[in-house]
Amino acid sequence: MFKEATNTKFLLFYIVLVYVFAFMFWWSYLLHSKIEQHFSDAVNYQSLQYELNHGGNFEDYIQTEEYQQLDQDFSRQQTMIIGEGAVFFIVLIIGMVKIYRSFKQEIAVARQQKNFILSITHELKSPLASIKLMNETIRKHKLDKQKQDNLLASSLSEVDRLENLVENILIAAKIENDQYGFNREELDLSIICNQVFESYKSRQDIELKANIESNVLITGDKTCINSILSNLLDNAIKYAPNSTVSILLKRDGNKVELSVCDTGSGIPDEEKQAVFDKFYRLGNEETRQAKGTGLGLYIVRQLVHFHDGKIQVENNQPQGTCFKMVFKL
Ligand code: ATP
Ligand code: MG
Repeated sequence: MFKEATNTKFLLFYIVLVYVFAFMFWWSYLLHSKIEQHFSDAVNYQSLQYELNHGGNFEDYIQTEEYQQLDQDFSRQQTMIIGEGAVFFIVLIIGMVKIYRSFKQEIAVARQQKNFILSITHELKSPLASIKLMNETIRKHKLDKQKQDNLLASSLSEVDRLENLVENILIAAKIENDQYGFNREELDLSIICNQVFESYKSRQDIELKANIESNVLITGDKTCINSILSNLLDNAIKYAPNSTVSILLKRDGNKVELSVCDTGSGIPDEEKQAVFDKFYRLGNEETRQAKGTGLGLYIVRQLVHFHDGKIQVENNQPQGTCFKMVFKL
């Protein structure tokens, strides 16, 4: 449905485009023929008059001031058609490019929203369904303590997932409405990185390494830095499972470089900018396996910007993804 509507829209756009250009060229041609006809009629008339009154031939007539005047008028009108036509053509091209871009943007936004609705429905419904199922199992069946504990642990991790999702949606909404209450305090980035490293290092699904320079101080918000790191690490776990993930922190002159790199399958070059867009996810929601809403990297970029920092995504060597952030000391 969405693709069909998009194709129809573009088809209509191209039809209008071709029509407007054909129309413009046709009218320019008609106008030019008309003034050319007018010129040759006037020349014929005046040359006849000249021959009758002065007895000279056509060669003599074209030397006269009358002919020169007619010729000048004709050239002026020709220049006017070409000039106005060119201006009209340029304005038309600019207008068409703008319309084309806004179409593309509209389509991208619509696609993202469609993906977002699909993913959010899925993301909200699936943890709720499994929490419900696990609770019902505990209630209906007489399970031993071990099984009950396992079910409760899974149930709690689903609750965590829901909590993270709701938290991300709220943060994104607050950032957009300039309502996020950021703190500006002196932070020891090395301590925060080490704490995050400790909390993730026991995970089975990645091998986590860290190279963290000590006593790296910046001004900022601790919750934000935690959120940046956990979003990047969660992504590495989701999109580069079983890979080696490293957290690197080092001073570089009066700057600080913080990177989270994995050795997964990487992000294609043409998608590297788009992954920071709100709701943007690679591929299509229907075919995508990993859970998510496409808010994580959008939030990360906004939080990095709040710290006057920059973030970019690069290829890791020999393979994988590297999210590199630079902050001022
Ligand atoms: P959310 O973080 O809101 O749960 P998400 O993880 O899909 O959802 P983002 O964190 O914004 O959203 O990531 C956007 C997209 O970038 C992901 O869907 C994924 O396709 C791609 N991506 C992010 N990190 C990596 C990575 N380390 N390796 C490969 N692809 C990645
Ligand atoms: Mg994410």
